Amino acid sequence: MLPGTVYLVGAGPGDPELLTLRAAKLLAEAEVIVYDHLVSAPILELGRHGAERIYAGKERGNHTLSQSEMNQLLVRLARQGKRVVRLKGGDPFIFGRGGEEVEALAAAGIAFEVVPGITAACGIAAYAGIPLTHRDYASSCLFVAGHLKDGSVDLDWDSLVRPGRTLVVYMGLLGLPTLCRELAAHGMSDATPAAIVQHGTTDSQRTVVGTLASLPQLAQAAQLAPPTLIIVGEVVRLHAKLAWYEATAAEAGAEKRGGDRVLSATR
Ligand code: SAH
Repeated sequence: MLPGTVYLVGAGPGDPELLTLRAAKLLAEAEVIVYDHLVSAPILELGRHGAERIYAGKERGNHTLSQSEMNQLLVRLARQGKRVVRLKGGDPFIFGRGGEEVEALAAAGIAFEVVPGITAACGIAAYAGIPLTHRDYASSCLFVAGHLKDGSVDLDWDSLVRPGRTLVVYMGLLGLPTLCRELAAHGMSDATPAAIVQHGTTDSQRTVVGTLASLPQLAQAAQLAPPTLIIVGEVVRLHAKLAWYEATAAEAGAEKRGGDRVLSATR
């Protein structure tokens, strides 16, 4: 690791064993770790003992640092000669504003490196048993942000309702009723299978499966907490056959509560 350099590192969706080897190595050597709220506690524990840890925030409605304050912080730390890990949930270049941060570093002449991470869509597809593509069901897959903008979800609906396409919606919990309503209004059958997954790849992962018509109510009844990811498309049918993780996670969680902290070793 080089002094005065910022390493923009993807932490994956939650399970610490989904970190890349590069991410684990950099965490073990960093002098400063700047992390956001999606980074799970067990991953932070992999940081070097004595490393300075700075919480950068960014929960819905609770922005601890503005994006420009964040950019300035990274530039300042690098100019002090620090070895900085900027740790982000999932992959830094997928809905993570990683692009904006490295643009600021590049503009300030700061050396940087980008380490990819497993994005929520891929981690959750694997752990929920929902292949994002499958020759029988989907030949393409689209990742979109379901952010509410002025009370509406601002998306190119026509491109979302193509047959044979899996749709993955990040940041979609609040907008779920609008999402399902608009997809149906733009021609998607309201019997299309749809799932919402809470806290994917952690031992509080929960998956709620329904259809475009039923998912909003089912999700509300389940009282899911963010982060959640929505998957819409025929591939969701496979969850019933391929889900493998939640039962083992519950088992491992019970063992952990019994004093044995080896979640991954029990899978
Ligand atoms: N850079 C991240 C995404 C950041 S946007 C990545 O590549 O995964 C934040 C959104 O990601 C959340 O609102 C949620 O939709 C999704 N997300 C991230 N981690 C998740 C998890 N463990 N379970 C469910 N959704 C998750």
